[in-house]
Amino acid sequence: MQLTEHFTLDEFTRSTIASRLKIDNSVPDDLIPNVKLTATKLELVRKVLGKPIIITSGYRCPLLNARVGGVSTSAHTKGLAVDFHCDYGNPKQICQRLIDAGVQFDKLIQEHNQWVHIGFSPSNNRQIVLTAVKQGGKTVYVNGLV
Ligand SMILES: [Zn+2]
Repeated sequence: MQLTEHFTLDEFTRSTIASRLKIDNSVPDDLIPNVKLTATKLELVRKVLGKPIIITSGYRCPLLNARVGGVSTSAHTKGLAVDFHCDYGNPKQICQRLIDAGVQFDKLIQEHNQWVHIGFSPSNNRQIVLTAVKQGGKTVYVNGLV
């Protein structure tokens, strides 16, 4: 299913871990509007960065989310977040560009300088910016871009 000009539903649901574990990661009907909203917001992200967005993790059903160690309240389980990379630059450069361009988001996370997490809210985008770093073998989130 084509969601927007550049994004398909398949890009939001494909997961090598889900395939390997035979987890059905299809988006429930009631969450389709959320995924469409996310795709619409990602069109703007794509436009700002001027390059295709490669989604590495989009929707995660609760089982898949638990298997990848996501927190149970993760926006991924609501279809409201994606992890991605983009040829524009490294994750920090991408985050900085999105902030400078005034892109609306609920949460933007530079994840270990390996990928970017961006989440949206249908009603209240909080513009939270975090950086995930390892401290003592555990992932911690610090405010802002580090
Ligand atoms: Zn994420």
